[in-house]
Amino acid sequence: MKAAVLTAFGKPLVIEDAPDPSIGPDDALVQVMTCGIDGTDLKLLDGFGYTPELPFIMGHEPAGVVRQVGSAVTSVQPGDRVITYNFFTCGACPLCLTGREQLCPQMAGVLGVRDVPGGYAEFLKIPARQVVRLPEGIPWPDAAVLCDAGITAFHAVDRARLTLGETVVIVGVGGVGSFAVQFARLSGGRVIAVDQTEEKTARAVDLGADVAINASAQDVAASVGQLTGGWGADCVIDIVGKEATLAAGMDALCPGGRLVVVGYTPDTYPLNGKSLAQSELEIIGTRCGRKQDLIDVVRLVAEGKTKSIVTDLYPFDQANEALARLRDGKVLGRLVLQIGMP
Ligand SMILES: [Zn+2]
Repeated sequence: MKAAVLTAFGKPLVIEDAPDPSIGPDDALVQVMTCGIDGTDLKLLDGFGYTPELPFIMGHEPAGVVRQVGSAVTSVQPGDRVITYNFFTCGACPLCLTGREQLCPQMAGVLGVRDVPGGYAEFLKIPARQVVRLPEGIPWPDAAVLCDAGITAFHAVDRARLTLGETVVIVGVGGVGSFAVQFARLSGGRVIAVDQTEEKTARAVDLGADVAINASAQDVAASVGQLTGGWGADCVIDIVGKEATLAAGMDALCPGGRLVVVGYTPDTYPLNGKSLAQSELEIIGTRCGRKQDLIDVVRLVAEGKTKSIVTDLYPFDQANEALARLRDGKVLGRLVLQIGMP
């Protein structure tokens, strides 16, 4: 099969013939139609933060068709359209057993990120229990981005515990943020989107934000104050995670407010204990999501309740050009590779 292979950190992917995966009794063989690309792929490419054993096939947002199943598989069959739940969890630890498997400390691998080859290839092998079936009607590019952008935004909004009429600020409207704006709106929140360019803030409004703030031209906390009659936001969802966004997010909260941290960088942020305690603020971390979050997000998208976040499509042969475009900051929403998709 054709695959785009990471053979050395800091070097372009090599598009070459790789061995076809052979499946075991519990596996499914999936023909990949599309695969999303995001910032994690750039970190993998650079060997920064993630260093899988090389050679390695990246790609953690694949969507495709099951072509073959192992003898013990009953949950899917050839012809099913599927996407992947990427965390290969142990299924037996206290976190797995209490519905928080995304925190499992004993994961056997993360598809396309470490130990398990991903979707930058014509085929992938995956245990059948790791796939989620897709209903008809979700186009291949939109299906792919649910595997990471969709599930992550859905789980973050769930962690935010929004209630009807609350004001929520979404900081960073790229792939995850494009979904977070829409899910926060569906939760009944009044959505204020924040990003660095007019192009991105205008797009956030198109996706359903009530108002958008250009952080390169306006002070975020002061603007949120003005938009809330001096009160502040009930919740801030930070998808960027730099010191400046964390600081602005904390400053933008009303008393009793919640800061949900999705994105992260090497930055740290000095916490003001007095303000945290006396205003009863909450800081909530969130990581990807549970398999059930992925199932729920598939249903929401299939019901037509969201707009597409895919802004760029690239043919598989141009995987390196696609990664370069992402690195240059030219992707407005999400970029998707067309692999088996015509
Ligand atoms: Zn576990």
